[in-house]
Amino acid sequence: MSKEQDLQCSFCGRKKPETDLLIAGMDAHICDKCIEQAHGIVEEEVAELQKTGLTDDLILKKPKEIKGFLDTYIIGQDQTKKAMSVAVYNHYKRLLQTKDDDDEVEIEKSNIVLVGETGTGKTLVARTIAKMLNVPFSIVDATVLTQAGYVGEDVESILSRLLQAADYDVEKAQRGIVFIDEIDKIARKGDNPSITRDVSGEGVQQALLKLLEGTVVNVAPKGGRKHPEQKFIQVDTKDILFIAGGAFSGIDRIISKRLNRQAVGFGASLADDKIDEENLLQYIIPSDLKSFGLIPEIIGRLPVLSYMNPLDANTLRAILTEPKNSIIKQYTKLFAMDDVTFTIEEDALIYIVDKAVQYRLGARGLRSLCEAILTDAMFELPGSETKEFVVTKDYAEGKLTNTTLKKLKAAS
Ligand code: ADP
Repeated sequence: MSKEQDLQCSFCGRKKPETDLLIAGMDAHICDKCIEQAHGIVEEEVAELQKTGLTDDLILKKPKEIKGFLDTYIIGQDQTKKAMSVAVYNHYKRLLQTKDDDDEVEIEKSNIVLVGETGTGKTLVARTIAKMLNVPFSIVDATVLTQAGYVGEDVESILSRLLQAADYDVEKAQRGIVFIDEIDKIARKGDNPSITRDVSGEGVQQALLKLLEGTVVNVAPKGGRKHPEQKFIQVDTKDILFIAGGAFSGIDRIISKRLNRQAVGFGASLADDKIDEENLLQYIIPSDLKSFGLIPEIIGRLPVLSYMNPLDANTLRAILTEPKNSIIKQYTKLFAMDDVTFTIEEDALIYIVDKAVQYRLGARGLRSLCEAILTDAMFELPGSETKEFVVTKDYAEGKLTNTTLKKLKAAS
């Protein structure tokens, strides 16, 4: 048996008398100095991970899990949810790899462009992804952006919003997600000679390009509390994920034309494949965006292209009740806070969907319709004797006058 003073640290080899403390394990020992050093290493690693924003939680989310999360909030749109899950997964893998300097294979950023009618859930998808990742998220409207020097906002303003969302934590902002809405509105209008003003067209696309590629930008911290002394904060955009969305109204004609050309060019084979004329967006390819007026460089920097399906009556019906925080679940909760049990009959739900379809109010209209039907009850019931509130089709019909419907239509 070894004598006590012969015991030594299995890591650094110090003998017991040279240490302040030697802790015994199953068949090894560790001294106080090695413990301290190991602790330092652990702390550094954790700090490094936190700096990248990649906590264990985030690294472990696989594309299927990301899609599973999206499924609980977003009805349908499977193709986009899948494409987004993969793009986001790869994006965060890319952030992990930037730490590995020896590797020559550089993964490029997977910025995304979503094409689909307004109200089909483009913003919702982007917002839900950010929620799941717990990263700062901001939305900008491309229509307010102008080239530097013109009236409007410089593209850099995109980053002030993101900084704000990150509570002025630059590291966090640099790992955030930016949703650029109405990207189609900055399409080049050059082919059309009647439109001479192109302030918000190609020039803005050029300015945007730099942000998408990755650059260091001086951002004015609008109203920031944390850096009152600083005029500018430098933000590096190389790891920010950009998701652009737009309705690209009229792009179906471009797609249709291209499909017809192809059908002629390749003989009968393509013509035999039945084209779904009702939903041409599903055939979209990057060159259609170019024909629409986005410059090739921008398209190149938005390598993931996906589309949103128009919302049919079945989808609208599902949107009312199925998402985790669906409109009906929200009303149920609101009433429950006043001890009122709220139920709405299937007939009434179908009636709401019918009106949304008839007046082309889309998913956004569902809330306005519910609001119009339920406002009186939400006014009367709190504090009253009624503890049960059932909305039937008749009740819903009674609350939705033609005037209300016309008003909703005008506001949509
Ligand atoms: P877009 O950005 O395409 O104009 P939004 O994401 O703003 O559309 O969608 C508007 C609202 O419609 C959302 O906030 C959500 O309540 C609802 N919505 C739209 N599509 C869906 C969907 N597929 N699943 C659940 N809710 C949806």
